[in-house]
Amino acid sequence: MEFAYSAQQIELKRRARDLVKKLMAYEDECERDGGLSPGSRVEIRRIVLDSGFPAMNTPVAWGGAGLNWIQQVVVEEEFGRLTNGLWAAVWRPTAAAVTRCTPEQRERYLLPEIRGERFGARAITEPEAGSDPRRIATTAVRTDRGYRISGEKWFVTLGDIADYFLLLAMVPPDNTPTMFLVDRDRPGVELTDTPRYTHNFAYEHPNFTFTDVEVGPDAVLGAVGEGFLLTQETFFEERILVAAHAVGAADRALGHAVDWARTRNQGGDRVIRHQLIQGMLADSAIDIAVNRTFVHQLAWEIDRGGDAKTLNAKVAMAKISATEAAGRVADRAVQIFGGRGYLRSNPVERIYRDVRVDRIWMGTSEIQRIMVANEIDKRGLSGLIHFSGSAEADR
Ligand SMILES: Cc1cc2nc3c(=O)[nH]c(=O)nc-3n(C[C@H](O)[C@H](O)[C@H](O)COP(=O)(O)OP(=O)(O)OC[C@H]3O[C@@H](n4cnc5c(N)ncnc54)[C@H](O)[C@@H]3O)c2cc1C
Repeated sequence: MEFAYSAQQIELKRRARDLVKKLMAYEDECERDGGLSPGSRVEIRRIVLDSGFPAMNTPVAWGGAGLNWIQQVVVEEEFGRLTNGLWAAVWRPTAAAVTRCTPEQRERYLLPEIRGERFGARAITEPEAGSDPRRIATTAVRTDRGYRISGEKWFVTLGDIADYFLLLAMVPPDNTPTMFLVDRDRPGVELTDTPRYTHNFAYEHPNFTFTDVEVGPDAVLGAVGEGFLLTQETFFEERILVAAHAVGAADRALGHAVDWARTRNQGGDRVIRHQLIQGMLADSAIDIAVNRTFVHQLAWEIDRGGDAKTLNAKVAMAKISATEAAGRVADRAVQIFGGRGYLRSNPVERIYRDVRVDRIWMGTSEIQRIMVANEIDKRGLSGLIHFSGSAEADR
C-alpha cells in the first residue's frame, strides 16, 4: 500500500490550487450580487481555459485533459474549496455525452463544449419526478421527422448558460426512458423561472418548459430505452466529484476555524485552549481525514476497474459520508467563529450554506442509503467494507 501523492499528482494539485486562488477573487462579487457580471464571466472563461483543466474527463485526443479518476479527485478536492459554486466555471461535459455520443454528436456538441464554446445542462428533474425518475411526465412522441418533446424540467443547473440540454423523456406508447440532446434555441423551449436558492451560485438553476419541441432522430443519445442507464452513468461521475468537493470544502472551513481559534482570546485564554472548542476541532479533523482517505481509495478502485454495481454503491457511500461530514464541519466552523461565523463575508458561512445541497442533489442521502442497503442484500457486505484481496487472505 502506498498513501502518498506521486510527483505528478503533487503538480496537478498545485496547478489546481493556483486556479482556485484566481477564482476565489470572484467569491465576494458572487455573494454580493447573487451571481457574476458578464465581464467577470468573460475573465473567468479565459482563466479557466489557460488553466488546462476544462473537460478533465474527456480524452486528450478530443482536446480534453484526459485525467483518470484519482487525478480528477485530487483536482476536484481543490475545487471544493471554492464557495458560491465557482467550481462550476471549470466546465466538463456530462459523462453520458462523453461515452455515448455518435461521431456527428461529438462534432456538434462535445468538441465545442471541450473548447468552451457550447455548454450542456442536465434536464432530468420535474415537478412530480425527483428521486423517482420513473414518474417523469415529459414525453418524446415519434413523428415522421424524429420526435416531438413536451414537458417541464426543474432545477436545471447551468440552464442560464446552456445552449443544449441532456433531457430525459419517455417515448410512448411504452414509456421507454430515453435521453435526448436538445438545442436551447429550438422553438418551444422556454425558461419559466429562475428561483433563488440557499446558496448564491455563480450560475443559475432555472426551470424550463418544452412545448412541442421538434428534434430529429439523431437527437437520441445512446439508444432508445437507455435513458435511465445514461442518467445513472452521469450520477456515478457527479457523486464521486461531489464527495471530493465536500472534502475540500470541509478542509477550507476547518482551516479558517483553526486560524481563528488560535488567535481569538476569550475567557482568559485563546479559544483553541477551551476544551469544548477542542472537541469540535478534533471531530472535524477526523471527519476530513477519514473521508479524504475513502474518496481517494474509491477513485483508485474505479481506475483499476471492478464490479460496476458494487462501485456504484461505494460511490453512494462516499457521497453520503463526505457530504454529511462537510455539513458537520461547516456547522462547527461557524460555531467556533461565533457571531463572525454568521457573516456572509466569512467563507465558512458560505460553505455552511453551499454544502447543504450536496445531500440533496444528484440523489439524496436517503436514496444513497437505499442503494447501499440494496447492495448489501444482493451481493453482500464484503465488496463494500473490505479491501480487494481480503477474500484471498481469509482462505
Ligand atoms: C440547487 C439544485 C440544483 C439541481 N440541479 C439539477 C440539475 O442540473 N438537473 C436535474 O435534473 N436536477 C437537478 N436538481 C434536482 C435534484 O437532483 C433533486 O432535487 C433531487 O434528486 C431530489 O428530488 P426532489 O427534490 O424531487 O425530492 P423528492 O424526490 O420529492 O424527495 C423528497 C424527500 O423524500 C425522500 N425520498 C424520496 N424517495 C424516497 C424513498 N424511496 N425512500 C426514502 N426517502 C425518499 C428524499 O430523500 C427527500 O428527503 C437540482 C436541485 C437543486 C436543489
